[in-house]
Order: sequence, then C-alpha cells, then structure tokens
Amino acid sequence: MSKKMPLLFIGHGSPMNAIEDNEFSRAWEEVGKSLPPPKAILCVSAHWETAGTLVTAMTQPRTICDFYGFPPELYAATYPAPGSPDLAERVRRAVKAVEVRPDLTWGLDHGTWSVLKRLFPAANVPVVQFSLDMALDTQQHYELGKQLGELREEGILILGSGNIVHNLSIVRWGEDAYDWATDYDTKVRQWILEDDHEPIIQYQKHGQAGLLSVNSAEHYEPLLYTLALKEPGEPINFFAEKVSFGSISMRSVRIG
Ligand code: ZN
Repeated sequence: MSKKMPLLFIGHGSPMNAIEDNEFSRAWEEVGKSLPPPKAILCVSAHWETAGTLVTAMTQPRTICDFYGFPPELYAATYPAPGSPDLAERVRRAVKAVEVRPDLTWGLDHGTWSVLKRLFPAANVPVVQFSLDMALDTQQHYELGKQLGELREEGILILGSGNIVHNLSIVRWGEDAYDWATDYDTKVRQWILEDDHEPIIQYQKHGQAGLLSVNSAEHYEPLLYTLALKEPGEPINFFAEKVSFGSISMRSVRIG
C-alpha cells in the first residue's frame, strides 16, 4: 500500500455540477468519501491562466463565479474553504525549475470550487490553486507537474480540474457525442491505462480528433499535472466517463 496521497483529475464540465444532483456530482461525492483525509489540496484549474506560474497564498480565498448565463442559485453558492500560505510557500520551495510567485488576488475559480463542493462539502480542508503559465507547452506543463511529487507524501491532495475533450465552440445540447470526441477520449483512456503519456502530451499529432478535442488546451493541461506524478504500478480508476454535450468529456481519473 502506498502512503502517498492519491492523485485526481476531474472532468468538471458545467458549473451546474456544483449544485445539481446528477451522475457526475454523485460520482465526485463518492470519491471524496473514499479518499484518505487530505491535510490540504493543491488544485490546478483550467480557469486560471497567467503570465508565469502563480500559487494562491491568501488565508481566505474568495469564491469566484467565472461563468455567465447560469441561474441565480449558482451565483449564490460559495465555497469558504481556508487558503494556506504555508502550503503556497511549500509549493514555491518544491518547484525548482521556475519561480512560482505568490498570488493574493485570485481565489477559487469554478474549476476548483464546483468540484470541491461535492468532494469535500464541509469546506474545511485548506485549498491552494496553482496557475497555468500560458507560455508553456504541454511537455513543459508535464515536466513542471513532476516537481510537485513530494507533496503527495505530505498528505497533500493534488487535483487537476479540466476536461480531456473540451470544444465549447460546437457543443450540442443533446447527449450524442461526436465520433471524434469519443474516439479521442477512448484513446486517452487507453494511454492512461498503459502509462503511455507521450502521445497524450503530443495531442497535435493525432490529426483532427486531437485538434478538435483539445480545442482549448487549458482544459487539457491539468490532466498532465495529474499524470506526471503517477508512479509505476499505482492503480488507475475512472470514476466518471461520458462525453456530454457532444464535445465535453467528463472522464475523471483517480490514481493511487
Ligand atoms: Zn471549465
């Protein structure tokens, strides 16, 4: 049995999953109950892209409603988990390849809180966000992710929040997935199971399926942080797997 904290990647999809009872929100709740209690959470969210790499370092992060056109009850939702300046400092020390700057202005965007509201509804575990440096390519994000490994041994839950297939420009409100979306999601599933991360990093090499699926790389990159920390032999479990709205993969992965 590994003493390291499991790793998660959650396909977050619609912010409504924060307050709706559905197959995804229920799956997230179950995973939350099954995890060893974390000391703190480090979340890499698709919704925080920055110049350089930042880590939130405030004591009380605000709940950010960074979405439009949803019902008032979603805007009224909050996730009042504390921050952790200590963890932010620990992250800054762990990452040697680049300077990670402390941030006092962001908070918890919906990539983080809409998921954590279901995983840890009591909101009593400190949460820190780690930003996506827009200047980095997928290989560089993967390498940066590797530097966070020692945090797993300290009871820190590392969570990537995005979507493997994410193309908002052509979402359709039926439940039928595009063939290319299903194809690419299935391929990524297989590569994850085989610990074959290179083709996942090189998504541009898979023709139209890769390019349409990773239409916005910021939703794909959080997966790379999760995968980068997988060690050989650790179990892999997909606790949600469905392509919703035609082009949004809800596939969610637990490692360890
Ligand atoms: Zn999103």
